[in-house]
Amino acid sequence: MNFELEPAYKAIQAEARELARAVEPIAATADEMSEVHPGVLAALRKSGLAALMVPAAYGGRHEQPDPLAICLVREILMATSSHLDSLFALQGIGSYAISVGGSEEQRNTWLPKVARGEALAALALTEEDVGSDLKRVATELTETADGGLRLHGSKSFISNAGAADFYIVFAKEAGAYSVVLVPADTKGVSISPTPVIMAPHVLGEMVFHNVTLPASARLGTPGRGMDLVLATLAVFRVSVAGAACGLARAALEEAVRHTRTRVQFGRPLAKLGPVAQMLADCWTEVEMAQLLTYRAATYAVADPAAALPHSSMAKLAATEAASKIVDRCVQMMGRFGLIRNSKIERLYRQARPMRIYEGASEVLRLGIAKQLTEEVR
Ligand SMILES: Cc1cc2nc3c(=O)[nH]c(=O)nc-3n(C[C@H](O)[C@H](O)[C@H](O)COP(=O)(O)OP(=O)(O)OC[C@H]3O[C@@H](n4cnc5c(N)ncnc54)[C@H](O)[C@@H]3O)c2cc1C
Repeated sequence: MNFELEPAYKAIQAEARELARAVEPIAATADEMSEVHPGVLAALRKSGLAALMVPAAYGGRHEQPDPLAICLVREILMATSSHLDSLFALQGIGSYAISVGGSEEQRNTWLPKVARGEALAALALTEEDVGSDLKRVATELTETADGGLRLHGSKSFISNAGAADFYIVFAKEAGAYSVVLVPADTKGVSISPTPVIMAPHVLGEMVFHNVTLPASARLGTPGRGMDLVLATLAVFRVSVAGAACGLARAALEEAVRHTRTRVQFGRPLAKLGPVAQMLADCWTEVEMAQLLTYRAATYAVADPAAALPHSSMAKLAATEAASKIVDRCVQMMGRFGLIRNSKIERLYRQARPMRIYEGASEVLRLGIAKQLTEEVR
């Protein structure tokens, strides 16, 4: 067993660090915005890292997007800016259905632009009344008499809505599920901002009012849309774990800096027993989460679908650990951990949504337990 990353992965980490350094001075501002920060987008484009999100044949770096590379990049970006992490991640989450299910024309039209960061991508699954239970989507896709398609319904809490150049939309069709690619300028699509959440994010509410699309807007086989959604989760779920590890380590570094220098009761806080214990627990838990995450991502490189239970475990473990760790770090920093828009306060807020999106912890536990009970004979 080799715990050393290969040189190619280390090189990608170095590129991500360079991008994070470029964004660092604007991170505090960007992370409080509910729209795309032009400086962050420009830095992402310049880095060339969005190319990790598409297959090599369409301007990408690897034959197929590499879950470990994506995970390593998100770990570094999230430690600096949640906005940067989100912009990067969505280029993959919002385009993967094209990579695996798109026609040659769809791939050639969009993927090279996604790779260069010139077109922003989005994936629209959630609706006002539908979150974890995706099978209850109400947005409807129907074939029209002239061979085209009609999309009618609405989506809620969609990352990049209003900023994206196209949307991968999940809809119900004839008792099954289908996926269509909707360019942002399509007639009948209207978007309004989602109310700002505790850790601001580019989010929008979408309405598709009798939207007419050509038959070529379809992605994949009619009625097999769930396969494309699951394929996307299989590649990208573990990358949320990577981002959570980055967030947790960044919080711990803040706490270490603070507790090393702040003196109470005649000693630095870090030398006081209970604080030292919290530091030790945080470090141990970051390492545990990171090991599980890297292993799951390595499995996902070989076979994303087969690795999904491990990706779910990594996402569950790392996001739950990140929440616990950042909470302890705020505790160790006392009142200084509460200052609005300080790094630690931002990390504290940013940790919270990670346990809800891309599979809430409780929903992941159900899937993991189901897999376990099927495996044990
Ligand atoms: C920052 C952010 C970005 C997002 N971006 C996107 C996006 O780009 N595209 C998109 O489509 N959606 C997006 N979402 C929506 C996200 O996917 C949903 O929030 C998520 O699927 C959970 O759905 P819900 O919030 O409706 O919670 P619900 O499904 O209503 O669940 C609420 C809670 O109930 C519990 N629960 C639910 N089901 C079960 C179960 N079966 N067993 C046990 N407990 C359960 C869990 O504790 C869960 O947290 C985003 C959300 C956030 C916060």
